[in-house]
Amino acid sequence: MTAHLTLTRIDKVFQRKPDLAERLAIRLGAPKPPAVRAVDDVTLSIQKGEAVGLVGESGCGKSTLGRIVAGIHAQTGGTLTFEGRDQPDWTAEEARRARLDIQMIFQDPMASLNPRKRVIDIVGEAPVVHGLMTRREREGEVGRLLREVGLDPAYSSRFPHQFSGGQRQRIGIARALAVQPKFLVCDESVAALDVSIQAQVLNLFMDLRERRGLTYLFISHDLGVIEHLTDRVAIMYLGRLVEVGPTADIFRSANHPYTQALLEEAPRIGRGRRAYKPLKGEIPSPLNPPSGCYFHTRCPLVMDICKTARPALRDIGPGRISACHLNDQS
Ligand code: SF4
Repeated sequence: MTAHLTLTRIDKVFQRKPDLAERLAIRLGAPKPPAVRAVDDVTLSIQKGEAVGLVGESGCGKSTLGRIVAGIHAQTGGTLTFEGRDQPDWTAEEARRARLDIQMIFQDPMASLNPRKRVIDIVGEAPVVHGLMTRREREGEVGRLLREVGLDPAYSSRFPHQFSGGQRQRIGIARALAVQPKFLVCDESVAALDVSIQAQVLNLFMDLRERRGLTYLFISHDLGVIEHLTDRVAIMYLGRLVEVGPTADIFRSANHPYTQALLEEAPRIGRGRRAYKPLKGEIPSPLNPPSGCYFHTRCPLVMDICKTARPALRDIGPGRISACHLNDQS
């Protein structure tokens, strides 16, 4: 298989701008406000047509990484490669095409749709601007897209507030599809919906994958969604990837103690949703992460070395990597 998208050593540091008083203090020798490393040295390849899940507790950097993939945030360091071309080498036309090829579906469809625009404008604007359809073709094309996502084309003259949450999410999906993307980043895309509606929207994602050959990065805290929809899963903790592997293998036998803790005692499929079990201890502040293995302050298997040395991601089996010093001994 060809890598559709590769992230190589991606970092994202957010540096808060100092206010006036802080700027004066800095001139007098005070330190700058601390920076947050939201994404820390992440390397991950996603194959064409693959669905990869990205999981971790809130604040672990998974949404930031998704936004880097979708071009909403620029990374501070590292390289993004899409369809074999490194981002720094993209021509203006390649950059424009990549921004269309990689679309993001957000959690809150109401917030991501302009309330003053009709559906026909929301869905049809970008493809007309980018020359993918003419203004004359717009009505027919938007109707076809609405039908594809399970909405009545007659709704195209309505405004977002006239729809339910699930219907609004379908409008968001139609808007993304309108620019003929190849890769969808879905950031908690069903989290705000009722459970019965979630299943319908997830089925739509699966149908679209089949029909359009899309590649997916699913960001979710819902382990049921990840287990059901993805081929591989990547686990993040405080900005770092700690384990990556085939979804079935990880759900059967997680290697990393953090992954094990996330999955532990989660209800089996058919016996309710799998959500994170609250882990013991506080998540450390990303402003001041622990030394060594970031998970050492909460890990039941912590050893002395974990407090000082960062564990490397090591191969632990076919298609599997994990960053834990327990693997150093095997
Ligand atoms: Fe736990 Fe140490 Fe492994 Fe980190 S490296 S997960 S602290 S055993």
